[in-house]
Amino acid sequence: MMSQMIYPTTNFASVETLNIVRGDGVYVYDNQGKQYLEGMSGLWCASLGFNNAELIEAAKNQMETIAYAHMFGGKTHEPGMKLADKLSSMVPVDNARVFMGSSGSDANDTQIKLLRYYFAAIGKPEKRKIIARERSYHGVTVGAACLTGLPINQTNFDLPIEALGVLRTDAPHYYRGKKDGETEAQFVDRIVGNLADLIEREGAHTIAAFIAEPITGASGVIVPPVGYYDKVQALLKQNDILFIADEVITGFGRTGNDFGVTTMGIKPDMMSFAKQLSSAYVPISASVIRGDMYDAMVEPCSKLGVFGHGYTYSGHPVACAVALKTLEIYERDNMFAKAAETGAYLQSRLQEFADHPLVGEVRGAGMIAAVELVANKETGEAFKDGKVGYFAANACQEHGLISRPVAGSSLALCPPLITTKAQIDEIVEKMGKALNDTL
Ligand code: PLP
Repeated sequence: MMSQMIYPTTNFASVETLNIVRGDGVYVYDNQGKQYLEGMSGLWCASLGFNNAELIEAAKNQMETIAYAHMFGGKTHEPGMKLADKLSSMVPVDNARVFMGSSGSDANDTQIKLLRYYFAAIGKPEKRKIIARERSYHGVTVGAACLTGLPINQTNFDLPIEALGVLRTDAPHYYRGKKDGETEAQFVDRIVGNLADLIEREGAHTIAAFIAEPITGASGVIVPPVGYYDKVQALLKQNDILFIADEVITGFGRTGNDFGVTTMGIKPDMMSFAKQLSSAYVPISASVIRGDMYDAMVEPCSKLGVFGHGYTYSGHPVACAVALKTLEIYERDNMFAKAAETGAYLQSRLQEFADHPLVGEVRGAGMIAAVELVANKETGEAFKDGKVGYFAANACQEHGLISRPVAGSSLALCPPLITTKAQIDEIVEKMGKALNDTL
């Protein structure tokens, strides 16, 4: 059934609808009554499944108390303040300060503005460029889309990438990016060397920050080699460049730890969150910065003028109440440790596909993974048309599993954190059938 809807991130010439009408735990059901195990948590977000009674109750209670209040100019409310304090206490950022929005894209746009304002406040307005990586995904609003490093999100939009000062550096994907005969360590040295050259060429005094997803999602679940982040961080520190961790997917137990930065050994200055912050029950995002960065903006604010950035839904009370309840459930139910255990099981079961004739690489961490599908297993040669991921995802769907084609030739999994080991077995069984169908 078609409607007047303009579908997001969709080929308008071949819209294939799947009408989902209800959810129950990790399962969803279409309008024909067919059951699917939701192996993607929707879009990497519904960590607590699709009908959690406590989250529904939290939203209802907050709507009954006060359904909307804003935060411009210091107007405030309990769920907003409590959420900011709770998040600040959880993140590995010193004395973290929290700005709220509604989406991962707006969280990253906010980071761009916070950077500009901060460097203006400390008298370094020329420090404004941001280094982002090839094959990164940071969202689709104009600012975030400039940071993103995927052609699909940039082609046809004439984005002001240069005007915004976005610089591009290598994706840390050894399997796809290595040169003939190059070891993992040599690959890391080469791409970090390229980063060093870029900084040298542009001048460190013009570069504000480096942004990275600790482990990527939409670009194919790239887990950088050991040593990559250590070397990148040393280089950034040496050049006084801040590290923004885009944790929109990796935040809150996804990668086998509380945050992706913990899994990858990163000490960030700024962090972006959305998705699992509220288990996706209501839209909410958070842009986190070091406390001393906030402090440095306070006095100059009277000279610079008001920080003129805020959304109608910044700190929406219903979203804050649901996010608070989500964080409470994560803590009370020891969710991150449980997901780490289930995630280790998922990774070990997926390794069974390493021998499959269609699979070039199996990669992931915790409860996020991808298998890369290749035309030639020996050489790693990619399929020319880049559609194999779509065929495999469709085959999964036939077997009652929702997965996601990413970067054309990979198939991603990102199951809800509440998924059981028996349900992981179900995912692997359905995926195995789908890969055989795709051969
Ligand atoms: N950053 C990352 C790492 C993401 O994966 C996404 C979305 O998938 C975004 C930002 C953008 O989030 P949103 O779609 O909520 O704008």
